[in-house]
Amino acid sequence: MRPPENPAFAPVSAPAATLKRLERLGIRRRFDLVLHLPLRYEDETHLYPIVDAPYGQPVLVEGEVIAQEIQFKPRRQLVVQIEDRTGTLVLRFIHFYPSQQKQLARGRRVRALGEIRRGFFGDEMVHPKLREVAEGEPLAESLTPIYPTVNGLTQPVLRRMIHRELDTLPLPDTLPDAVRTALRLMAFDEAVKLLHRPPPAYSAQQLADPMLPAWQRLKFDELLAQQLSMRLAYRARRQGRAPVIQGDGHLRQALSANLPFALTGAQQRVLVEITTDMAKPHPMNRLLQGDVGSGKTIVAALSALAAIEAGFQVALMAPTEILAEQHYIKLSAWLEPLGIRVAWLSGSLRKKARGEMLADIADGSARLAVGTHALFQEDVAFETLGLVIVDEQHRFGVGQRLALQGKGGAPHQLMMSATPIPRTLAMSFYADLDVSVIDELPPGRTPIVTKLINNARRDEVVGFVDRACHEGQQAYWVCPLIEESETLQLQTAVDTHLQLSEDLPHRRVGLVHGRMKPQEKAEVMAAFSRNEIQVLVATTVIEVGVDVPNASLMVIEHAERMGLAQLHQLRGRVGRGAARSTCVLMFEAPLSELAKARLKVIYENTDGFEIARQDLQIRGPGEFLGARQSGVPMLRFADLEKDLALLESARGLAPEMLKSWPREAEAHLDRWLAGREHFLKA
Ligand code: ADP
Ligand code: MG
Repeated sequence: MRPPENPAFAPVSAPAATLKRLERLGIRRRFDLVLHLPLRYEDETHLYPIVDAPYGQPVLVEGEVIAQEIQFKPRRQLVVQIEDRTGTLVLRFIHFYPSQQKQLARGRRVRALGEIRRGFFGDEMVHPKLREVAEGEPLAESLTPIYPTVNGLTQPVLRRMIHRELDTLPLPDTLPDAVRTALRLMAFDEAVKLLHRPPPAYSAQQLADPMLPAWQRLKFDELLAQQLSMRLAYRARRQGRAPVIQGDGHLRQALSANLPFALTGAQQRVLVEITTDMAKPHPMNRLLQGDVGSGKTIVAALSALAAIEAGFQVALMAPTEILAEQHYIKLSAWLEPLGIRVAWLSGSLRKKARGEMLADIADGSARLAVGTHALFQEDVAFETLGLVIVDEQHRFGVGQRLALQGKGGAPHQLMMSATPIPRTLAMSFYADLDVSVIDELPPGRTPIVTKLINNARRDEVVGFVDRACHEGQQAYWVCPLIEESETLQLQTAVDTHLQLSEDLPHRRVGLVHGRMKPQEKAEVMAAFSRNEIQVLVATTVIEVGVDVPNASLMVIEHAERMGLAQLHQLRGRVGRGAARSTCVLMFEAPLSELAKARLKVIYENTDGFEIARQDLQIRGPGEFLGARQSGVPMLRFADLEKDLALLESARGLAPEMLKSWPREAEAHLDRWLAGREHFLKA
């Protein structure tokens, strides 16, 4: 939709090799060069006499080469001595080319930029930036911008290309004057010119300050582009069509009547939000958040029934085989008595069983299909898919989510997650979702007691487990995460299982891990559910969603290796019944400061939202988003936590802009987003 005549969006013209390198920097259009901003600045405006040059900061000196030699100890290196009117300085190169030897021949005059340090043989600079100069050559008038670049694309070349665009491209403002004045933002062209070509009055320190008006303007523009794009995505969805789902409630009532508990107020409220959404003619895209144990599964079941009542099929997808199987068991127990067929689909089904399931799903005899992402393989066809429910949605990659959106038109989507989204992320990356929150735990839960215990006291922990079993309770024993090697982790689980079986001869100790066949896993989990196993040794496969109410003790080895969200999830496996539950976090001393800070958070907090908030502070949002695997393009200039105020005003402005200044809004999006994907998951 961008105007083709706009020269800013024309491709960069350069030799093919350069274009390839620019592409790796995300630069395709001429305007992208304008938005390629310096990482930092070098000061070549001031020349220091060698004797006066301060230590510990980059300085520029000039002198004549008076000696050059190659030393061989402790390793081959080029050592050059230069001299000015005040003294001499050694320049040392551990890596060097013959061309540098030539450049640094005796009698040559050079400028060297680098930090001076006291070496064994006097003052020296290691690997300075060098330039050959004539005597009396003028100094740079302003700081030199240093750009992010890739091999083969030098700073001067990149700088020239960028400066050429600054000189030739029109850089009109995309913010209406009224907005700019109200928000006290610098003009766009002024801001980019200042950052690319700082006036002499600016110091490197001033330019590095994120509060500099020029940086503020760039960050604001970036955040505004993100907000505009989220708003548009939200609108587009609102305009999309989906089946109106309005059941008469008879199945929901039947299930509710069979339940041994009443729904909490929060569960009832989110159900109304969900069913209201599904009754509208455009696709629901709702995230159901509720802390671990808040009772999301029954909400999923009742939402599914609302769709089934109205004649639609439902798919429920879970990220792990164990969890999917558990959902299958639970949902069949709830739904089959109402005469509803539930199909089960996982990657490990035998061919024949799978064929039968597929047929049942295709002809509509199965009304609910539960499974892993196997549910969304190409050959799975539904008769009338109306609702897709995704449990623990944050565990799925973007690709899987996309495949799912393609199934059966655009059905309504309900995503569930125990991982709360911190406010800043909810305002930005997830702004196109509607969110329902279960902010209340079912009654009758006793709070979980968390203990931190040094690994050296393992025997006491084993004794503790023994006593709990004696009282009829059950325990999980989670083996450490070993990131480097899955095999090692598996080995540890097997060893721990053997050891605990020996330590607790009169208890039944089971083992479950990721390499077991799904059938075996399911059998172990079922035996644990029936209390035929008292202690379940597990790898982190039990992390999400597993629900065995009688288990009231959770032991986690090497808790310091795990993420906070993961620990919170694991701890949430207990505290589900009426018994008083305990979570023992074992750690290996000594702990790093970071590990201490994190264990303190989990020790002091039971509220998942608070844990996520503190986690975000410790780790930053990148980790939270799982950006590396999800491919969500991160913000380049703005920082969600630090630039909250800017984010808030961008968010406030976006709808206003779309309404009152649609052309400017479009120009703004073209400038910032064209050529790349949406800021979010497409
Ligand atoms: P999560 O939100 O972590 O997925 P689950 O749906 O697994 O939680 O529910 C945790 C436990 O709480 C289950 O055993 C479930 O049957 C029970 N539960 C759910 N809702 C209620 C309620 N309103 N009253 C009592 N127990 C409930
Ligand atoms: Mg769950």
